[in-house]
Amino acid sequence: MNAPDSRHRLSAAHARPEDLAGFDMIRRLVAFPTVSRDSNLELIGWVRAYLEDLGATTRLTFNDDRRKANLFATFPARDGNATTGGIVLSGHTDVVPVDGQPWDTDPFEATLVGDRLHGRGVTDMKSFSAIGLAFVPQFLRRGLARPLHFALSYDEEVGCIGVHPLIDDVVAQGVAPTGCIVGEPTGMQLVVAHKGKKSWRCRVRGHEAHSSLAPQGVNAVQIACEIVAWIAGRARAFRSGDHQDPAYDVPFTTPHVGAIRGGTALNIIPRDCSFEFEIRHLPFDDPDAFFADVRRHADTFVPAMQAVDPAAYIEFDQLSTLPGFDDDGRNAIADIGRACSQSDATYKVSYATEASLFHRASMPAVICGPGHIEQAHQPNEWVSLEQLARCEAFMQSLAKHVCVA
Ligand SMILES: [Zn+2]
Repeated sequence: MNAPDSRHRLSAAHARPEDLAGFDMIRRLVAFPTVSRDSNLELIGWVRAYLEDLGATTRLTFNDDRRKANLFATFPARDGNATTGGIVLSGHTDVVPVDGQPWDTDPFEATLVGDRLHGRGVTDMKSFSAIGLAFVPQFLRRGLARPLHFALSYDEEVGCIGVHPLIDDVVAQGVAPTGCIVGEPTGMQLVVAHKGKKSWRCRVRGHEAHSSLAPQGVNAVQIACEIVAWIAGRARAFRSGDHQDPAYDVPFTTPHVGAIRGGTALNIIPRDCSFEFEIRHLPFDDPDAFFADVRRHADTFVPAMQAVDPAAYIEFDQLSTLPGFDDDGRNAIADIGRACSQSDATYKVSYATEASLFHRASMPAVICGPGHIEQAHQPNEWVSLEQLARCEAFMQSLAKHVCVA
């Protein structure tokens, strides 16, 4: 690992808002209250106009009721190439709600408190997008050697569901970039892999009876708990098994049950119980094989249940799926990321992002953005000026890769 440039470190540590090219842009983006449940069209409209004024071509893809949109914008290279070998700067526009959180400042007015900028989305993840947008005039002045794209999505915070139509559209347009930089908060460290995640709901239908007549009922809560306990056993097996990758903060696959609901009163054999569970898996572990095992175990209870009541059942609904990705940072975008972050160190993380979806669509991805995940989703979400300065230094270095001079 190379030591970070000490001059750059010193200047980043003493960053002032007036030294930051993207400071006003961050404040502008934060002022759009783009909570996931609400429309993001005002922000998208404003950014689209800004980019088109600078010469970008833009494409929008919408959700079903057209209250939310993804924006994909392209600045072609000087030679007119708009499709091949460029860089995608990617960010989600939505933020998590502030309801019930004790904020000391207006969450949608980014406010400087000492050397920290407070506001919803300053870390997760409007600052990266804003700094990228603010650097466009500089990139254009130097002249683009290869295309530069922006991919701004909706509905990331509710399961990375919004970006799908954007990626489909980009692929259909024949855009084939070198790679994609997703600016989720990593402390400006280069993340080259993350786990996948898949989740389900299990619904157990039993048979009600007076609790004094237990054999005449089918106890849905107890059967559900048998399945939950089996999942917990699988979690212990993953933890002690040999499928491990020490590069991850949690180096093994983790199944987990997060919510359970069942029963009405102690003196009634419960008819219904449901629970939700997920698996956050290393990219080389198969979530479907895990699920098949859960289902097979659940099926062993069904004959006895249906002997009491033929209408009893155990059913599963898939809730979400997001792949993992990991090629150990052996691709061109990771090389660019290492150069721009001035470090050869790379990391792997357990949380999922849109990066794997770009990666799967033949757009190799890395994750690198200002701020830390611990500061995201919190009241008084903040990002340090030092992190913003490091992100700007990253963009300065990126100019060497995308610009002619
Ligand atoms: Zn995020």
